[in-house]
Amino acid sequence: MSGNSSVDVTFDIENPRMLIGGELVESASGRRYDCVNPADETLLAQVPEGSAEDVAAAVGAAQDAQPAWAAAGVAARAETIRRFAYAILEHGERLLQVEVKDSGNIISEMRRDVASSARQLNYYAALGYEMKGSTIPATPGNLHFTEREPYGVVGRIVPFNHPLMFAAAKLGAPLITGNTVVLKPSEQSPLSACYLGELAREIFPPGVVNVVTGFGKEAGEALVRHPEVKRLAFIGSVATGLHIQRSAAEVAVKQITLELGGKNPLIVFPDADMKKAIPGAIKGMNFGWQGQSCGSTSRLFLHDDIHDEFLAAMVERLSAMKIGDPLDEMSQIGPMISAAQIEKVRSFVGRAQEEGARLVTGGAPPPGFDSGYWWSPTIFADVTPDMYLARNEVFGPVLSVFRWRDIDEVIEIANGLEFGLSGSVWTRDLDTAITTARRIRSGYIWINGAGPHYPAVPFGGMKNSGLGREEAFDDMMSYTEEKAYSIVLQS
Ligand code: NAD
Repeated sequence: MSGNSSVDVTFDIENPRMLIGGELVESASGRRYDCVNPADETLLAQVPEGSAEDVAAAVGAAQDAQPAWAAAGVAARAETIRRFAYAILEHGERLLQVEVKDSGNIISEMRRDVASSARQLNYYAALGYEMKGSTIPATPGNLHFTEREPYGVVGRIVPFNHPLMFAAAKLGAPLITGNTVVLKPSEQSPLSACYLGELAREIFPPGVVNVVTGFGKEAGEALVRHPEVKRLAFIGSVATGLHIQRSAAEVAVKQITLELGGKNPLIVFPDADMKKAIPGAIKGMNFGWQGQSCGSTSRLFLHDDIHDEFLAAMVERLSAMKIGDPLDEMSQIGPMISAAQIEKVRSFVGRAQEEGARLVTGGAPPPGFDSGYWWSPTIFADVTPDMYLARNEVFGPVLSVFRWRDIDEVIEIANGLEFGLSGSVWTRDLDTAITTARRIRSGYIWINGAGPHYPAVPFGGMKNSGLGREEAFDDMMSYTEEKAYSIVLQS
């Protein structure tokens, strides 16, 4: 990695701006909206409210920059991406302050996101030379071969839960392949993307990376419907993903990666190593960002033989976890993103109780947190597959526990939803592990683990959890179009 790329940027959290064509700008309308700290509801910043006009300007700038960026070649692009990765690490602690204040995710976990962002950018920088075509021995009188070309301008729309990592790391694949990017962060946690924009401005040629802040229905929609944005990548909810597909299709044929929601099963067999499975089930819930994670293993299937003991041990561990200021290194659970998200969780809890699920722990905000958006880790037992809680993504710190004896029934319940993102199987028996994992219709299965993503291992969903895979080789190739040539040999 090139280590001599100190970037002299002092991001002012109170004055975030968009990046369009290498300039830090206000929205064309001049409108801004309030962005608050979810830990205490204080105003952090007023953020430019981008509209179709800003998106058009950003796409125009990205179009202008794209031919030269593609022509620069892999080595130059890789070097630039590496400098960006290095700048993210250099600014890591200051980025973290912004990220944690804006998202409420705890600092110790978000530190990993900083490292992961740089690692993924470097991974794609290194992969660039693999953007290869092929030769095809179709007929003896010809030379048939293919090359890979970038799409042009890529639109990336990301959700609120890992703002920095989704904004930064996922620039690697489109950029190394010679595309330019317009990024639309979530309106709920846009500040680290604005900071990244200021870093990108110092490193990339103008227009290669653009950041447009604003609401989904306006700025997001305009990006999806822009006729010159042929390649889109979206991370967010199933409902928005379906909407985006419809909306894009009204305008043009577009290639879209969709990373959507999950309601992921974690299945514990009675022979599992309980010392690892109990913390594993807690880890799988991703309480570091309050369960607001697509990959959270939010449906826990406990075999009857170990059900009560397992649950009691989980509750004991959860009650010892420290809920508090997300900037405190010792905190293990911070606030949720918004009042709306708290109300969603509250309504899930109420409905689960009405439908007969048994509240084991949590179910309310923790005592003593008078401002901010807090909710205690919540576990429901005796959940049955017909319950609303069992069928829908909470995107919060709420775990549904099912008691089981028949693995065929577990598989039927596990696969009985529209989701198919991840899953987890805990057993000491290799055969049971593999055969069970194979039966789960999800894009990513952990065996005796839950939660982590690994570099170069593809992540993405089956069924309504998504389309396409990210974080791996095919992700890079998906930002290219294959073009075929046939030469008629003259002798
Ligand atoms: P969301 O769908 O509400 O919003 C995601 C993004 O889409 C935001 O930037 C938003 O502004 C934008 N958007 C909203 N409406 C739009 C529209 N009409 N056109 C274009 N853009 C629009 O999701 P969220 O609440 O921010 O995030 C939570 C969801 O994201 C959960 O369902 C979660 O499972 C999912 N998610 C999936 C993954 C994955 O990798 N599969 C990762 C993280 C989150």
